[in-house]
Amino acid sequence: MATRKSPPKAPVKASAKRARKRVAVRDGEAPEPVDDSLAAMRDAARGCKRCPLWKPATQTVFGEGPDDARVLFIGEQPGDAEDLSGHPFVGPAGKLFDRALAELGLDRAKFYVTNAVKHFKYEVRGKVRLHRSPDASERAACRIWLERELAAVKPDAIVCLGAIAARSVLGSKFRLMAQRGQWQTLADGTRVMATVHPSFVLRQRGDEERHAAYAQFVADLSLLKRGKRGP
Ligand code: SF4
Repeated sequence: MATRKSPPKAPVKASAKRARKRVAVRDGEAPEPVDDSLAAMRDAARGCKRCPLWKPATQTVFGEGPDDARVLFIGEQPGDAEDLSGHPFVGPAGKLFDRALAELGLDRAKFYVTNAVKHFKYEVRGKVRLHRSPDASERAACRIWLERELAAVKPDAIVCLGAIAARSVLGSKFRLMAQRGQWQTLADGTRVMATVHPSFVLRQRGDEERHAAYAQFVADLSLLKRGKRGP
């Protein structure tokens, strides 16, 4: 009896081969994305163990937004709600950020939003997880992901939310309260501006202080609008 030939196998794409070959990532390592796309970076960052923050966190919270966004926002690190949901800026600070953008008629969906550090660092107090700032070694370890995001999106303008984000782009000598709301230009021509992290507004104790901090935050973000020497 004649044997039927099996159809020729479709060639396996190199990226698929590499994806299948991916081995367990060891502590201290960042997995290589299969290509330069944000989707590949996001996928690779899920397995990152380059610093100890991956262990107690629920998941990596990578940046989100259009691949070709003209403006890229950088925060510090995910908070409790972001850690649980896997999305950046969705907790109370994220809601205040959304409100400020909406007041200015700016559409968050057009922006790429990320953090300098991709895992939530916290300490447990009773039933709550309290934010702790990532230290210098953790920020340095995570920088690889921010650099990859910046290289992929190539924004015209970067807005840093908070001192940690600002120093990750503008250097350790940057003084947030003295230099907030001022456009600077990087060597490659990208415009950069820093303002406070929205959680700074929420942390103000009195109503008056909170209103004033919010008004100044909105005023800083208004520099993104046309006619204000923004992008
Ligand atoms: S915080 Fe950054 S460097 Fe550290 S494990 Fe998470 S993704 Fe990797």
